[in-house]
Amino acid sequence: MAGVELERVTKIYENGFEAVKEVEIEVGDREFMVLVGPSGCGKSTTLRMIAGLEDVSAGTIRIGRRDVTHLPPKDRDIAMVFQNYALYPHMSCFANMAFSLKIRGVAKAEIEERVRKAAAILDIDSLLDRKPRQLSGGQRQRVALGRAIVRDPAVFLFDEPLSNLDAKLRIQMRAEISRLHSRLGATMVYVTHDQVEAMTMGDRIVVMRDGVIQQIATPLDLYHRPINRFVAGFIGSPPMNFLSGRVVREEGLRFDAPGAGLPLEGLEERLGRHEGREVELGFRPESLRLAEEGEGFQARVEVVEPMGSETYLHLRVGDVPISARVAPEVRVHYGDRVHLYPDRDRLHFFDRDTGLAIA
Ligand code: ATP
Repeated sequence: MAGVELERVTKIYENGFEAVKEVEIEVGDREFMVLVGPSGCGKSTTLRMIAGLEDVSAGTIRIGRRDVTHLPPKDRDIAMVFQNYALYPHMSCFANMAFSLKIRGVAKAEIEERVRKAAAILDIDSLLDRKPRQLSGGQRQRVALGRAIVRDPAVFLFDEPLSNLDAKLRIQMRAEISRLHSRLGATMVYVTHDQVEAMTMGDRIVVMRDGVIQQIATPLDLYHRPINRFVAGFIGSPPMNFLSGRVVREEGLRFDAPGAGLPLEGLEERLGRHEGREVELGFRPESLRLAEEGEGFQARVEVVEPMGSETYLHLRVGDVPISARVAPEVRVHYGDRVHLYPDRDRLHFFDRDTGLAIA
């Protein structure tokens, strides 16, 4: 197995568009690294450059310390799993999984053994004689995974492999790929636009936007210590709430927004130098509790969603929509006016001009 290093990797397409800008990523040996970001952020381009399917405009890519920047895909010791499975329709599942070994001239007995072993891991032993069209989407994706496994590559690359599956199957396959990662002890780089997939699968996550890396961190670090407003809003479901306001001093430091105010005692060191400045306050739905009148923000309840284990509230503070996640016993109704108080230890502040977290 091996790690993957990207050093100042840039991609400029023929039309002059810079899709990936000086990206620096170090994927550790056996690490599961997820690249995530909104559509068009450059994550697929980055993965395709690691695979050798896309030329690199500048920078260096190493796999297991070997410079592979200009090597063709077949010499990089990688296997890629695609969203659309990319199986050969006229071949059986066995032949699909065996194909790459066959063209490499691997002996027949060894091919047989490797395919059977991968099929057993993926629980598709009974499907090996079928053609892809005789399989469900989840089964096809397992065959595509099997085709990667038989090659025993240094690095597995995944490009949105679960996007074509329905919600339930996606959750199941998510767990299967995580299990596979543990079982094979393989290095994996996984592209998705789905932050839940990123959070649940990644050892670490690279968040990208407009071709630029925003932050690389473990899932919980991203969640609790987002580096900027974009990462804060992208990671988490329902997303973080934001209120625009100002840091003012009236009998102590306060956050002041239309329809909402909050004393900031104890946060002097963090926010004192922002006095008089515009900031954005961020707080997650689960960090809100119902409070007494006169405390925290006044909000109007617009939607109540009881989930059984918890209840989601959609509310408005002034004109700003926010959401809260409260205990199932909490009884509120459409139109109620409630007071909400965010947990002071879990407040986030962002500079209005730069979007950077005020740490
Ligand atoms: P998605 O989730 O939609 O696939 P992505 O983050 O994977 O998005 P990429 O496919 O890497 O995004 O594309 C990054 C940017 O590069 C996009 O703005 C896209 O339009 C642009 N792009 C991709 N391929 C080309 C190309 N061949 N020529 C010019 N621009 C391209």
